[in-house]
Amino acid sequence: MNQVISLVTSVADLFMVGPAYAKRLEKLGIFTVEDLLFHFPSRYVNYSLCTKVADLQEGEVATITGKILEFSDNFTRGRLRIQKAIVDDGTGQIIFTWFNQPFLKNLLKIGQTAHFSGTIEKHSGYFSMTAPEYELNGQRQIHTGRLVPIYPETKSVSSKWLRSRIAPLLDNRANLLSTVLNTKIERTYNLLENNKSLCQIHFPESKEMAENARQRFAFEEIFLTQIGSLQRRHEIEQEKASHPFKIQEFKKEIRDFYQNLPFELTKAQRRAIGEILTDLAKNRPMNRLLQGDVGSGKTVVAAMAMFFAHLNGYQSLLMAPTEILALQHYQTIKDFLAIFGVETALFTSHKKISSEKSSAYVGTHALLNDKVILKKLGLVIIDEQHRFGVNQRAKLKEKGANPHLLTMTATPIPRTVALTLYGDLDFSIIDEMPVGRLPVKTWLVPPAKREAAYEWIRKQDAQTFVICPLIEESESLTTIRAAKTEVEKLRKIFSEKKIGLLHGRLKPKEKENVLDDFRAGSLDILVATPVVEVGIDIPGATIMVVEAADRFGLAQLHQLRGRVGRRGQQAYRLLFSESDSEKTLARLQAMEVHHSGLELAEIDLKQRGPGELSGFKQHGFPEFKAARLTDVILMENARKTAKAILNEDLRLKNYPKIKEALKKMSVKLSTQN
Ligand code: ADP
Ligand code: MG
Repeated sequence: MNQVISLVTSVADLFMVGPAYAKRLEKLGIFTVEDLLFHFPSRYVNYSLCTKVADLQEGEVATITGKILEFSDNFTRGRLRIQKAIVDDGTGQIIFTWFNQPFLKNLLKIGQTAHFSGTIEKHSGYFSMTAPEYELNGQRQIHTGRLVPIYPETKSVSSKWLRSRIAPLLDNRANLLSTVLNTKIERTYNLLENNKSLCQIHFPESKEMAENARQRFAFEEIFLTQIGSLQRRHEIEQEKASHPFKIQEFKKEIRDFYQNLPFELTKAQRRAIGEILTDLAKNRPMNRLLQGDVGSGKTVVAAMAMFFAHLNGYQSLLMAPTEILALQHYQTIKDFLAIFGVETALFTSHKKISSEKSSAYVGTHALLNDKVILKKLGLVIIDEQHRFGVNQRAKLKEKGANPHLLTMTATPIPRTVALTLYGDLDFSIIDEMPVGRLPVKTWLVPPAKREAAYEWIRKQDAQTFVICPLIEESESLTTIRAAKTEVEKLRKIFSEKKIGLLHGRLKPKEKENVLDDFRAGSLDILVATPVVEVGIDIPGATIMVVEAADRFGLAQLHQLRGRVGRRGQQAYRLLFSESDSEKTLARLQAMEVHHSGLELAEIDLKQRGPGELSGFKQHGFPEFKAARLTDVILMENARKTAKAILNEDLRLKNYPKIKEALKKMSVKLSTQN
């Protein structure tokens, strides 16, 4: 490779990538050499057992090295093309089979020696492998005979392709990388050195080395995140709120608000309101996260804060992640505040209701991009923070406003994660459900009991949600197709019931209509895709069915549960799963007995093995490349280190590389939003 390559070289300019593949790589977020090098494996296949044919055992995963004796390329009767090679390693012969890879005959020529890795099968006395990995002898082995990296893939970019592009870049990387963590930090926490980590994370010598490498990058990511959030926290502490609020003057109004509520606030709600009001009266801007399970009553806390802004002569803004939730919040906030003479406005890209006198604005986060800059904006509340990313404050400040900021989330956040990701925020937690709220009864239903479960649902005569399986992260056409099939199926089973369908690709108006129908009771069953809004409020719905529940994390299942029994009725949830893995079933059974989101989040972390969906993203947090939610000690160490460095050098004058890395990170974050 004679090309001069640096980290910022575009992958399109690499002769071994080219423009066509560069386009595909964009889907993986890979634009530069650095992105490619930092596209880490999601797991490894262990092909490091190198054996002789004479010692083979059926079922073992192994690598064989031998000479190609024969190669054939034929059509099967089913018009498949099948390639077969017979290989001899001096102790015996083995047959390898591939399908539809006719080009192999140009690669695996008779007489050549090659390595083959895969699972050993035995048919009529002969050992064989189906579609083994292969590479010729004499090259450095990257596909066989070792721990082989498997990458997060996308259509038409295979792990094999990625390996063969990443390996030469690693050879070429001398001086490519600058290091964020200095040797002192590396030594203190026993971290593998930077360049070595990069080689080991892609092509590890051993599982331990792969894990060491991962930990090094995890430390780096978390450390940078920490530095970022601690710096933000420091900045905010120096800032002046544009509008400190008065409390004392409005004691009576606050009491009136409490007295006019249709329910008694829980202790936790009162505490949260107290913390928020105290913040609002300070002369630096509030930056608070309100965490509470679905149904714990965050909206009324938001309404109180908005009322308070109004009393002080300021405008407030409540942003929801979707149109449906915005509409719902608009109704609720209006109901809470209208009697006090507060005018509520609605602002989404499809609908605008406002008047001269409006002071409480509710909308989607399109509000942030809209020209609606409110002259006296004193308070911004963001519901379901995770869908927004972390840079809202920066965005608001760009617009010239520096209001108090409250974010609300139903995602249970373990303490270490909270400190890591949201170190710049203060926390309020609603850890108590409104009185009289019955825990949702949850049952894990085995396949054999499905019929009986449907019969039970028929008898209940209650409004029912049916949540379709989580097929992919984002809502693809496959997901929607699955949902439509489910509707067809249920129409046959429940011919007497009216069934509706809600999915993310419906137009806002269509969604609204479906939900209105369901809310009004003219639909009995609502089939919904998993991405459907966490906060949907259908007071009459008391049953929820979750299809393929094993595909969901416990935290997700828990959030789904919050959508039934919202009026305090006894609600039921049926989890269907075809899985026969004891571990999976045990994980789901935890839903039958545990009712706190935080508890479930922790069980979930413990029960899932490392690598197995234990990432931040699966739990609704921003994504890290290497760090996992289970890296508790690492998070604490990274946090300690970040604090120490900032204590000594707040502006990072002596740490230009950290500064540079932070800048890069914030660019990435802002493009993600
Ligand atoms: P979430 O925290 O999920 O946003 P909501 O604010 O939507 O929860 O509240 C869920 C339901 O509980 C709403 O119908 C709301 O009116 C009701 N609610 C809120 N607080 C109380 C309370 N203290 N007592 C009884 N019902 C309450
Ligand atoms: Mg809510």
